[in-house]
Amino acid sequence: MTIKEAPVTRVVIVGNGMAGSRLVQELRARDPQRHLHITVIGAEPDPAYNRILLSSVLAGSLTAADVEMVSPSWYASEGVDLRLGVAVEHVDRVRQRVLTTAGEHIGYDRLVLATGSRAWVPPIEGLVDELGGGGLGPDVAVFRTLRDCRDILGRLSGVRRAVVLGGGLLGVEAARGLAGRGIEVEIVHPLDRLMERQLDKEASQVLMSTLRPLGVRVRLGAHARAYDEVAGQRVLVLDDGVRVAADVLVVACGVRPDVGLAREAKLAVEQAIVVDDQLASVSDPRIHAIGECAQHAGKVYGLVAPAWEQAVVLAEVITGGKTAYRGSPVVTRLKAADVDLAAMGEVNADADGARGVEVLRFADPARGRYQKIVIRNNRVAGAIMLGGAETVGTVTELFDRSGPVPADPRSLIFPVAGTPATADPARMSDDELVCRCNTVSAGNIRQVCADGAGTVADVALCTRATTGCGGCRDVVSALVDAASCTPSPPRHGAQDARRRAAARVEVPA
Ligand SMILES: Cc1cc2nc3c(=O)[nH]c(=O)nc-3n(C[C@H](O)[C@H](O)[C@H](O)COP(=O)(O)OP(=O)(O)OC[C@H]3O[C@@H](n4cnc5c(N)ncnc54)[C@H](O)[C@@H]3O)c2cc1C
Repeated sequence: MTIKEAPVTRVVIVGNGMAGSRLVQELRARDPQRHLHITVIGAEPDPAYNRILLSSVLAGSLTAADVEMVSPSWYASEGVDLRLGVAVEHVDRVRQRVLTTAGEHIGYDRLVLATGSRAWVPPIEGLVDELGGGGLGPDVAVFRTLRDCRDILGRLSGVRRAVVLGGGLLGVEAARGLAGRGIEVEIVHPLDRLMERQLDKEASQVLMSTLRPLGVRVRLGAHARAYDEVAGQRVLVLDDGVRVAADVLVVACGVRPDVGLAREAKLAVEQAIVVDDQLASVSDPRIHAIGECAQHAGKVYGLVAPAWEQAVVLAEVITGGKTAYRGSPVVTRLKAADVDLAAMGEVNADADGARGVEVLRFADPARGRYQKIVIRNNRVAGAIMLGGAETVGTVTELFDRSGPVPADPRSLIFPVAGTPATADPARMSDDELVCRCNTVSAGNIRQVCADGAGTVADVALCTRATTGCGGCRDVVSALVDAASCTPSPPRHGAQDARRRAAARVEVPA
């Protein structure tokens, strides 16, 4: 549904996280004359930061300052009204205005909900401080925000043993981060494998044996009953009575989309806020939702690449472009020092008994390697690449663009010299994705190099490649080298290239 009325001038964005902060940049890139009056309201007091790098902050390899993404001074210089540490507590759809916790009413022509998710805390005794107002119990922490990170780090002095409750992606990253600080860590997970959404049982076994020498033990099939103090020691008590010593308990049991505002405003909410291809609520075309609080075509994404793709599409929509969001392919990468893992698509199609599926598998547990490629209709339908697989780039690319697998698909596991399955950046085709988080292709990078970008930092400034999870840094560096675009241009040269790149941003149609 489109709105035929006065042009949009007032845009209010609720949430200054990964999606909200990207949207405001995309809007300004399309609105250099500043016709739009943009207000961003963020409940967190910190400037916008890269949430996906929090595990590196926990591990101590990055500081809070390193993960800042968009500074408040940028908002000021762009004439964007930024309110940090302020939440929206009510949406008045009739008067088209929001009410903030600072008691202010702010009117909108378009409202964007980018409220993300909250950490979910399971109903286990001792996790929540019932007497102390419902906050987390003593020595219990969750892992979602910079503040959570500071909270965990603040509790670590004198801590010898930590338990991470939950063995999903976040749980594994948190455990690796804590182990990197010399703490004995145990992951307690109720299911029969780690990262059950991304791995099969065998991959989970290989991952567990990779984690063990790094100081992380894993207890599978374990159900926690209570977090308690026994004889002066904090312990996690399991269903079978076993007690696991835990000076600190980090709860990483998943997230729930933050949809309280939307529900109260009587917008359609299922798992998250239901939106159409223009990322507008199906209940109100003046209200949009992007990121983890949005549900598009039945899917709620828990990754940054879809959130940023949605931000690009929505910026186009709000500034009058004709475009539509069609969904995003999902590749998950674990960011834990000394553990290399990428997983995508239907990794358990064989176990699920799916028809017409061919599976290639290579396991070398002693060296921490496991690769599995699921092929359907001659396309990569899913893959697990654990342990520094050389072919991960090629497999990911085939998965992304649904390209046909090579005549001998074994080359997707064992690269054969002279076949395209070797991940040589210089031989990447122009449309091959390099930075998945920001949807930047090898061709985009070559172009900005030709326009004058001469270093990885310049390419980051021009295209944003490397500024998400950072996993593509080596490939970008190799492409910059291959383009031989030295010497480095002056800063304004890269900025010009940045503007040109923004003008060329491709919107998934
Ligand atoms: C430790 C960690 C590691 C991760 N690793 C990866 C990874 O490797 N790859 C990947 O793709 N993804 C990863 N993710 C997930 C990724 O961070 C999220 O998908 C992304 O942050 C979603 O962006 P968002 O803007 O929807 O939500 P968020 O980034 O959570 O932002 C939502 C913001 O809205 C604010 N807000 C909520 N309600 C209100 C309100 N009423 N008023 C004002 N503000 C409000 C919140 O305080 C928050 O700041 C990771 C997440 C975590 C926590």
